[in-house]
Amino acid sequence: MPRPIVVVHGGATRFAEKHHQAILRAVKKAVITGMCVLDKGGSAIDSAEAAIWVLEDTNLFTAGRGAGPNRDGDIEVDAIVMDGNRLESGAVMAVRDIVHPISLARYVLERTPNSQIVGTGADKLYSQMISEGYRKEASRNRTLQTQMAEGCDTVGCVVVDSNGKMVAASSTSGWPGKLPGRVGDSPIIGAGVYANDIAAASCTGKGEQILRIIMGRMAVLFVEEGLEVQAAAEKAMQLLREKTSGEAGLIMADSNGNVAIGFDTTHMPVAVLGHKGDSVYSSMTPSWPLP
Ligand code: ASP
Repeated sequence: MPRPIVVVHGGATRFAEKHHQAILRAVKKAVITGMCVLDKGGSAIDSAEAAIWVLEDTNLFTAGRGAGPNRDGDIEVDAIVMDGNRLESGAVMAVRDIVHPISLARYVLERTPNSQIVGTGADKLYSQMISEGYRKEASRNRTLQTQMAEGCDTVGCVVVDSNGKMVAASSTSGWPGKLPGRVGDSPIIGAGVYANDIAAASCTGKGEQILRIIMGRMAVLFVEEGLEVQAAAEKAMQLLREKTSGEAGLIMADSNGNVAIGFDTTHMPVAVLGHKGDSVYSSMTPSWPLP
């Protein structure tokens, strides 16, 4: 029986040192929350939504309460959740100013026959989700964002439950000052996120570059072709470097509960729970193998 595992990241970028402690507390809280959901009998998808929700609820990342404005000063957010066992995903893109797009992405997956809903369609779907009582409306209050990271810092998550079922997810407002309507890799199946019954990956970094090599799908494919999950993560990073000018990072897990981490930016805050009893591993610069 595989070990249940929850892994989250807070974006491949560079963060000012004064924010490191708060960021590490947030990623730890996210994995503890995700594991608590699994312990209480929740599914991998329940766990992933809860873990991302915790990160969205801080103003530490360019996601959720920390979402940054586009060129015109509007907030547009993207999110995806992919259920590896069903090979199905739900994603929302360029939704106007909501705090928990991860829940709307899950709504797309579970309550619609579609996989990707964008723009005004997603705005309307959010109202429908709230009026149906699927999730409660979260206050959209934001203190004006002090930029914590030098670039962008999407949040992401990979969960393996005790049956080896995997879910990968991601939530972001994309690059600060982006063109209105711009969508990067994060909510795109196969690019920012991919999961099947073999492995799961959640990527972060320069979205336009990650898209070019469909990084999440490639990373999982490398596991299908026989690589250990850490070797697969490294090969995906190498592919990105060889083919693009991208900087990026990714977290991965396989159906046996093995975890992998790769990044080539200054920081990529990560927390992992489940690889070693009850202790949480967290680091701004995670190293391999995990202690
Ligand atoms: N990949 C995201 C995007 O391009 C940014 C990030 O991961 O920090 O929108």
